[in-house]
Amino acid sequence: PPDVERLGRHTWTFLHTTASYFPPQPSQHQKSSMLGLLRALPTLYPCGVCADHLGEYMKTHPPEAAVEKGREALEGWLCNVHNEVNERLGKDKFNCANVPQRWRDGWAD
Ligand code: FAD
Repeated sequence: PPDVERLGRHTWTFLHTTASYFPPQPSQHQKSSMLGLLRALPTLYPCGVCADHLGEYMKTHPPEAAVEKGREALEGWLCNVHNEVNERLGKDKFNCANVPQRWRDGWAD
């Protein structure tokens, strides 16, 4: 089985970075592609417990509205997903106001 920690770190890097470069005003094609990517995770993510938790979370917190609104809303939705996992694993919560600096702009000097 894959190394769940390493897989997780790299998957979060991919997902947060992709959300941070999602257009503020996405096209229909970009929106449906993003939804396809997110909806595939509970089926394909190669950590069974993780995938199951994510699937349950997405039932009560569906991504459609955030994807519809564009980058900022999607960054917030994904930050909340990740924080729910952080909480479950006993990790610190991340301040979602810091998402753009962490995943796109870099920190000020
Ligand atoms: P990670 O949690 O991997 O975070 C990487 C970096 O992201 C952090 O250093 C921080 O800079 C930044 N970050 C942290 N929180 C946020 C946030 N809320 N928003 C934006 N950026 C943030 N592991 C399990 O053991 N059980 C599970 O059920 C489980 N479910 C998972 C579900 C998914 C969808 C994914 C992608 C991963 C899951 N993992 C799970 C793995 C787990 O979330 C971590 O990736 C892994 O434990 C390594 O943690 P880490 O401390 O290196 O930091």
